Amino acid sequence: MQLVIRDLSKRYAGGVQALDRVSLTIAPGMFGLLGPNGAGKSTLMRTLATLQEADSGSAMLDDIDVLRDKDRVRLLLGYLPQEFGVYPKVSAQEMLDHFARLKGVTDARARKATVEALLERTNLAAVRKQKLGGFSGGMRQRFGIAQALIGNPKLIIVDEPTAGLDPEERVRFHNLLADIGHDVIVILSTHIVDDVADLCPRFAVISKGRVLLAGEPRSAVEKLAGRIWRRVVDRDALAGVQASLPVISTRLQSGRTVVRVYSEALPAPGFEAVEPELEDVYFSAVAGHLEPAPAPA
Ligand code: ADP
Repeated sequence: MQLVIRDLSKRYAGGVQALDRVSLTIAPGMFGLLGPNGAGKSTLMRTLATLQEADSGSAMLDDIDVLRDKDRVRLLLGYLPQEFGVYPKVSAQEMLDHFARLKGVTDARARKATVEALLERTNLAAVRKQKLGGFSGGMRQRFGIAQALIGNPKLIIVDEPTAGLDPEERVRFHNLLADIGHDVIVILSTHIVDDVADLCPRFAVISKGRVLLAGEPRSAVEKLAGRIWRRVVDRDALAGVQASLPVISTRLQSGRTVVRVYSEALPAPGFEAVEPELEDVYFSAVAGHLEPAPAPA
């Protein structure tokens, strides 16, 4: 199974070009869609999840036209939206049973078995009778995955699932996602670079509605070798450095400011070359350093 997105565009009524000719080919496994807030990730996720219309372009899941054959897509789809509301007074078990019924698992015994298996898989069996309103952020997201997995979907879309989770819950959630299976397409939309670094063999960076880069994290990092430079700068020198050099990130480390710069050669005295990381790829792409050079006129 393969998801092929071609030249997908969407402009909102307010005039924002949320998607600008997005083209991506996504094979089974975890695919990370990385981009800053406002990049267009949710717009793309909601479009693929058949919840909103694109202006132009196409998306094909094998022979299924995602933009038109919505009912066929929905049979194969598991979706965890960014804003995942739950009924606070209903228990996890009751709610999953309800979702399973909506997804067409009509036989009561089959439904019970499905719900049971999902509760075990998402580590919620012990709290099955607790009301969803009392769930922590991490429990709620695991519940969100449980409902997304009903009916053995072949395309799973999770939109910003780890934002707001504490580190321990994030690791749990990562393990759950990593377990989903290799024959399923899982698209993980996130602005958190570590989510992609930890989980995704393939990824893309999107910003202002455009795909800036797509490929494998490791080779994208390797391509930056020799181009990332680091220096500790005083607080009062920071603005000057930012004004004069292609700074891709500034980070506080033990109270000092560490600046990372993208440059083909030593950018200025005092900088040292460092091993690039996926975060450097991401910030370099978003800052426009990895754009292919325009073709000569
Ligand atoms: P992301 O998920 O990457 O944060 P979104 O897809 O939510 O990005 O938003 C992309 C852009 O489209 C943003 O500039 C956002 O403000 C705008 N946008 C999103 N939804 C709407 C809407 N319903 N109407 C108008 N503008 C919208």
